Amino acid sequence: AKYSGRNQYELYHTEMHRNESKKMIMENNLRRALERNEIYLVYHPVMDANTNEIVSVEALVRWKQKQLGVISPSEFIPLAEESGLIIPISEWIIQKACEDLKMIHLQGKPKLRMSINISAIHFNQENFVKSIDDIIQKTNVNPNYINFELTESMIMPKANESVDKLVKLKQLGIKLSIDDFGTGYSSLSYLNRFPLDILKIDKSFVSGLLNYKEDCSIVEAIITMAHRLHLKVIAEGVENKKQYEFLKKENCDYIQGFYFSKPLPFHKLITFFESWDQE
Ligand code: C2E
Ligand code: CA
Ligand code: CA
Ligand code: CA
Repeated sequence: AKYSGRNQYELYHTEMHRNESKKMIMENNLRRALERNEIYLVYHPVMDANTNEIVSVEALVRWKQKQLGVISPSEFIPLAEESGLIIPISEWIIQKACEDLKMIHLQGKPKLRMSINISAIHFNQENFVKSIDDIIQKTNVNPNYINFELTESMIMPKANESVDKLVKLKQLGIKLSIDDFGTGYSSLSYLNRFPLDILKIDKSFVSGLLNYKEDCSIVEAIITMAHRLHLKVIAEGVENKKQYEFLKKENCDYIQGFYFSKPLPFHKLITFFESWDQE
C-alpha cells in the first residue's frame, strides 16, 4: 500500500509538472506572439432579428503558434491576464478592431458597429479610459460605432470606480453591453446603476431553448426585463432555426450564432457582407 501510494504521488507530481511546464512554454511563447504576428482577429456577425440585416460584428481574438497550433482564447486570455501580458495584447486587439472597423465603413457598410470583448485586468487598470481614448485618437475611428462587451464579474467588485469609468466611456460615445448575462450571481440592482445599452443572453440558455421549458422562461423573462429597462437584447450561440424563431417571437432584438455564420477572418467577412446583401 505504501509503495503504490508513493507511485501515485509521483504520478500526480509528474502530471503537475507537465501542466506547469506546458503553462511556462505557453507563457514564454505568448511573450513573443505579438511581435511574431501570431495574434489575429476574426469577426462574428450579429443580425437584426426583424430585418435580418447585419448590424454589427464581434471581434474574437485568435493565437496561432507554430508548434502549439491554434490556441483558444479561453485558454490563453486567462494566462495572459495572470502574467500581465494582457495589457499590450488587449490594446493591440482594440486598436486592430478599430482599424478594421474603419475599413468596413469605407467598404460600403458605413453604419456597422464593432463589438470588442474587454479584459477585466485591462478594465481595472487606473488608466483604462485614457488608453481607450488614445486608441480612438490614434486610429481616428468614430467611437459611436464601438461597443464594449463587459461581464458582471469585472465591474461588480469595484462598482463605484466602474460606474465612473463606464460614464466616461459613454461620454466618448462608446456603447456598453453585459456579456454572458445570467451566468454571474450578482444582484440585478446594478442594471440601473450602470449606463448600459445591451444585455447579451449567454449561450447556455439559448442552447437549452428546444429541450428545457425553464430556459425558455428565463430567456422570456430576460427579454421582458431588459426592454422595461430600455436595454436591447442579443442572443448568442443561436445554432438552428427553432432557436431563431423562438427568439424572434419573443422580440429579441439581435441574433448571433453559427446558424448565420461562424466567426470570419476580415477578407471572408467582406465577402459574406456582399453575398448577404444580395439575398
Ligand atoms: P464570449 O465573448 O462569450 O464569445 C462567444 C464564444 O462563443 C466565442 O468563442 C464564439 O466563437 C462562440 N460562439 C458564437 N456563436 C456560437 C454558436 O452558435 N455555437 C457555439 N458552439 N459557439 C458559438 P471564442 O472565440 O473561442 O471565445 C471564447 C471566449 O474568449 C469569449 O467568450 C471571450 O470571453 C474570450 N475572448 C475572445 N476574444 C477575446 C478578445 O478579443 N478579448 C478578450 N478580452 N477576450 C476574448
Ligand atoms: Ca463576447
Ligand atoms: Ca458571451
Ligand atoms: Ca463566454
